Amino acid sequence: MKCCDNIDARMVDETSINIDPIQVGGRLTPEAMKAMISWGDGYSVCDNCRKPFRLDYIQNPPLKEFHADLAEWLGMAQARTVPGARRAFQQVAGTYVEKGDPVLIGALAHYTSYLSVELQKGVVREIPKTKDNLITAENTADRIEDVIREFGTAPKLLYIDHVDYQFGNMHDVKGVAKVAHQYDVPVLYNGVYTVGIMPVNGKDLGVDFVIGSGHKSMAAPAPSGVLAATGERAEEVFRTTKMQGDLSGRTFGIKEVGILGCSLMGAPIVGLLASFPTVKERVKHFDEELANSKIIVDALRSIEGTKILSEYPRKHTLTRVDTTDSFDVVAQTHKKRGFFLSSALGKKGIRGIIPGATKIWKFNTYGMTRKQAEYVADTYLEIAETNGMTIS
Ligand SMILES: *Cc1c(COP(=O)(O)O)cnc(C)c1O
Repeated sequence: MKCCDNIDARMVDETSINIDPIQVGGRLTPEAMKAMISWGDGYSVCDNCRKPFRLDYIQNPPLKEFHADLAEWLGMAQARTVPGARRAFQQVAGTYVEKGDPVLIGALAHYTSYLSVELQKGVVREIPKTKDNLITAENTADRIEDVIREFGTAPKLLYIDHVDYQFGNMHDVKGVAKVAHQYDVPVLYNGVYTVGIMPVNGKDLGVDFVIGSGHKSMAAPAPSGVLAATGERAEEVFRTTKMQGDLSGRTFGIKEVGILGCSLMGAPIVGLLASFPTVKERVKHFDEELANSKIIVDALRSIEGTKILSEYPRKHTLTRVDTTDSFDVVAQTHKKRGFFLSSALGKKGIRGIIPGATKIWKFNTYGMTRKQAEYVADTYLEIAETNGMTIS
């Protein structure tokens, strides 16, 4: 099947069990797919845009209601949509960080966190991970003190990932936020692997901003994401324009500066909206996702030499494993070398692992049925057995 001459129709999730860490939480619901077709034209949601001419005031489709629901659902005062979590980082950093300002970032953070500070010409200082690959309140306190010594001021902002993308470990956001607030440092909660996956309440966590990714974890098309803030911080990060044209005297109403007026349009925002009921429901069943994940993690653990690098028992469906002493040993002498594993998985309809990776790799079981989880677990064991590995 083709979209046109030079573009194939993509078929991955239709034909396989996908375990790609970044893809599984963003797969569209049928409702979002329909929304993409119907609302895909550029400025489609502007059909019914009336005074005061801002995206989050549009009532048909119900974007206004969606913004209010989103804020409530995240336990925050206000919410906006953004073209990806990274744009939310940019918007928050753009509000608080100026040239030379120190910003604290958990050392397991994504590159986009760092770049959002770079864009402001800020200076990143990292909170180190413990030997268990966790970001802790204790290390946060130490690093704030270090920053004060170095810069003569507390960090202007702190980024903490609830679940990091490298290990899928869950970090003590509450503890970190508490420490940060003792120094009046605003806390940016990175929920790209939690918002839309498990229940998140920014108020309970005590954070200033909650950021989620639509295309990573809310079953929405790219680029999409959410930025929610407390009442106090909302006034700062969602400040409205005061700009005036010097000749024309033109002013621009209540357009928000940080996002250049309106953010998501067309397919991204209507897709986000269309999946929202499903997303709100699915976060209540994360325990079932973890149970499925455990079936696969335990199967891998039973293959001699395999180490789970993520915290165990698992608290998230994204897991990092080290198979240097198991699958990689086979790769040394296999005629397909390192590709034997991805190739064997591919033959069994399992996709999403980097081809050739047999040492350290990640997978995400989110969104599988129990039957699929058992199938994936059995497939790993079968591949191990076929290649003469020991299973305990
Ligand atoms: C994927 C990812 C991002 C970027 O999310 P976008 O929505 O694509 O901008 C940021 N932080 C972490 C930890 C991520 O894993």
